[in-house]
Amino acid sequence: MINVVEDILFIPVAAWQKQLSFVTTDPLPWKSYVIAVSWTVATFEIYLLARQYKYYSKKEAPPNLKAYVPQDKFEKSQAYGKDKARFAFVKTIYSQIWDTLFFYYGGFAICWKLGGDLIGVLGYGSDNQVLQSIAFSMIFAFLSSMSSMPLSLYSTFVLEEKHGFNKTTGATFVADLLKGWALGFAIGAPFLWVFITIFTWAGHHFVPWLLAFILGFQILMVFLYPTVIQPLFNKLTPLAPGELKDKIEALAEHLKFPLKHLYEIDGSKRSSHSNAYFFGLPWSKHIVVYDTLIANAKVDGVEAVLAHELGHWYFQHPFKLMMIHQIHTLILIGSFPAFLHSTPLLLSFDFPATVAVHPPVIIAFTLYQCVVTPIETMFAAFMNSVSRNFEFQADKFACELHSKHGVPGSEGMGKRLGEALIAIMVDNLATLWTDSWYSAWHHTHPTLTERLRAIAHYEEVKHDKKEL
Ligand SMILES: [Zn+2]
Repeated sequence: MINVVEDILFIPVAAWQKQLSFVTTDPLPWKSYVIAVSWTVATFEIYLLARQYKYYSKKEAPPNLKAYVPQDKFEKSQAYGKDKARFAFVKTIYSQIWDTLFFYYGGFAICWKLGGDLIGVLGYGSDNQVLQSIAFSMIFAFLSSMSSMPLSLYSTFVLEEKHGFNKTTGATFVADLLKGWALGFAIGAPFLWVFITIFTWAGHHFVPWLLAFILGFQILMVFLYPTVIQPLFNKLTPLAPGELKDKIEALAEHLKFPLKHLYEIDGSKRSSHSNAYFFGLPWSKHIVVYDTLIANAKVDGVEAVLAHELGHWYFQHPFKLMMIHQIHTLILIGSFPAFLHSTPLLLSFDFPATVAVHPPVIIAFTLYQCVVTPIETMFAAFMNSVSRNFEFQADKFACELHSKHGVPGSEGMGKRLGEALIAIMVDNLATLWTDSWYSAWHHTHPTLTERLRAIAHYEEVKHDKKEL
């Protein structure tokens, strides 16, 4: 199988590598390029933020929401949005300065050397690439985490606290941090070990093997996330028997959704933002509802939100997203070989010639990721637009539960979904006025106004059809 994949991939990958051969040989100013690109992206994002910022001065809710949103809630949401936008501005500038200094002073080369020193203390030499790579990644992750610490502390304990969302205690914050690091190491270290071993073992033929490994890893995470990882951070309890449970089970049964477990999650332990989601294997799914959603919306509303979630399942959105990500990974990895042996790339990032002559895989891959930032940024914006389309589709699905799928008791689901969305948005103090550029670039979900307009349209189309 792998050989067949390799044969199919080999010709285009080889042709593409020929195009990229200059990367291996030419001494290009890679570092200046990466710094320039990161400032270009940051400047564009600050411009978008400035476009969005002026909407926080509006005195009244958008016309189609005015009837549903009390004026005091609207004013609170504007104040929250303004504070978040100011914070985003500071965060962008701060991260930019940190990154620039890190690149400028050869941060990657320093981390690599420190990694070598660290394993040296443990009695291993720099010939042990796997260990030094793990040490390098640990040091780099620790530094990144430390650099963003002031921002996360401020965001959690000042910004969210001020607007009444923070439920995180100091103890939870520290425990989450430590668990996150432990988890990063427990998953990251074996991942890196296999990742590097594939390169040393498969040589020039690593592309299909690496793809197979990454796909396998993603599938493994589908198993591990709900069973091992999430319980470390949140408590999932089976949803209590009652009207809500009966309704969700009936809905799942009617749509032939393979519901295995129905949970309530204590999202309120950290924040009072509310949500619901599903996950699992094609034949065994879990639905998780946030306790905050149950508290904020009526049973009818929660059911409508779940109907929307089942729309994602019905149209196989998670699978489609995974396929797009696979193609993306293929393109990314297919372009990597030229960078794998690029001595000029490492020299440009201040690595000593002794290291640059035979670039360690992890270093080449890390620098490669910095180089492809512009493409990755565009890809992220593209994925946001795909995601927004999927959201509209799932809303449409919920609206058509009665007319198209004949689910009993699902009349007026669109109206119920609209009301639930408004209730969630108002409780979360979500931004109600949104700049179209800002939204197109950043948002995975359409704005509330856009969704309500679409829902009204789906409902109208439905009624028109009935009259015909
Ligand atoms: Zn959705």
